[in-house]
Amino acid sequence: MSHTMTLPPQQALIGGQWVNTATTIQVEAPATGELLARIARCQADDVEAAVQAARQAFAGQSGEWASWSARQRSEWLLRFADVIEVHHEQLAELECADTGKPMTQAKGDIAACARYFRFYGGAADKLHGETIPFETDFAVMTLREPYGVCAQIIPWNYPAQIFGRCVAAALAAGNTVVLKPAEDACLSVLRLAELAVSHSLPAGALNVVPGFGYEAGAALASHPFIDHLSFTGSPETGTQVAQAAAQHHVPVTLELGGKSPQLVFADADLDAALPAVVRGIIQNAGQTCSAGSRLLVQRDIADSVVANLCERFAALRCDTGEADADCGPLINARQKAKLEVRLAAAEADGIRVAAKGQLAVSASAGGHFVLPQLLTDIPEGHEVLREELFGPVLVVQVFEDEAEALALANSTDFGLCAGIWTRDGGRQLRLAKGIRSGQVFINNYGAAGGVELPFGGVGRSGHGREKGFEGLRSYTRIKTIAIKH
Ligand code: ADP
Repeated sequence: MSHTMTLPPQQALIGGQWVNTATTIQVEAPATGELLARIARCQADDVEAAVQAARQAFAGQSGEWASWSARQRSEWLLRFADVIEVHHEQLAELECADTGKPMTQAKGDIAACARYFRFYGGAADKLHGETIPFETDFAVMTLREPYGVCAQIIPWNYPAQIFGRCVAAALAAGNTVVLKPAEDACLSVLRLAELAVSHSLPAGALNVVPGFGYEAGAALASHPFIDHLSFTGSPETGTQVAQAAAQHHVPVTLELGGKSPQLVFADADLDAALPAVVRGIIQNAGQTCSAGSRLLVQRDIADSVVANLCERFAALRCDTGEADADCGPLINARQKAKLEVRLAAAEADGIRVAAKGQLAVSASAGGHFVLPQLLTDIPEGHEVLREELFGPVLVVQVFEDEAEALALANSTDFGLCAGIWTRDGGRQLRLAKGIRSGQVFINNYGAAGGVELPFGGVGRSGHGREKGFEGLRSYTRIKTIAIKH
């Protein structure tokens, strides 16, 4: 960590004011295990104040947010995208230290955050309803209205990016927001919120309540005065927040985990496919809901592909985010321990670690590093093929033909993303249609983050869509007005 790094407020943002909480939470740097910062620990009463502030701002009882036209919101969001870019270095430094991810990835995340504000800034005044042909003596129109107070509970793996995709879309549509960032990493979010306030975002439009999930998160999800809930995190917590929100019939968008397959056929361009397969699993040390965590490879090329990947995995270097190696640490000791238990069980079940990366000699012993690894010889139906490991671990499955590839691709309860690598156009489309998932990439994986591309899951990966215009629409609801004349 650089000595010049300026830390954001250890407070909550409520109604345009930074307020102290009774206690704070210590945040550690994943690369060293050392104390990095303290953040506010919001309780139910802080969440109550934040929801009330958001409600008043939405209703026009405080500040000017409710009076802003779509064009004014658009202009502010576009200006804020520029502000993020001006502070790019500092935000990336915070993201890198706080999450442990390599600096290049942290920089990419801040650039993506700015792009969300630019995309939704550009879209804010282009979102409209329809007129509907009905009986001849009627005129019917639909209005796309904001929900009101949007509760947003976000995780620690991509704080700045997820802040961008949720907050920019919700504000663009005219909502107000109460955001609960994750206790493990939220410094970039706090700095972004500080910048938003200092660049004249009206009071109460954005409120931030840092804290633990079981305290601030639970209080927010169950609050009777939220109008929409967007949650990104684990399937288990997703169930809990959805149940809490259901008590008040609050609509929910859930972006949960994944066990996304990369299908590599014998006719694929392997020079393009294999580096993408590696990137798809080591990005953010595999702590990515859309990680390509299963490799499905056709039998004819399986041995040579595994041999090639072994070389690539053996060459991967793990180090601190600042060192900007291939792979950083996991977020905390708990995640590391959880993964190591699963890896030990896999080895005990005869699964082979075909290759492992290396830890840089300079890496701190206190860092939560798990080496990137490639697992082969996996018994059918084993848990490492079905469960999200949330680490830099790629599991290999071999298929004979297209039908088996499709069956394996669809053999988990998840359905977030899939990659298909083949030159056969018919097969590309047959598989793209047949795979149960929210996104399918053909001869690429991830489309460079795809701010503009609707994203979300099927089954245990969640429901609802974020990103792109679809994400913006999901922060609105339709009102139908029928006029008899
Ligand atoms: P992880 O296990 O990877 O930390 P979670 O799904 O638990 O993932 O966390 C995602 C977000 O949900 C975080 O902001 C966390 O604080 C929050 N959270 C955790 N538990 C709850 C809960 N019971 N109610 C609401 N939010 C929660």
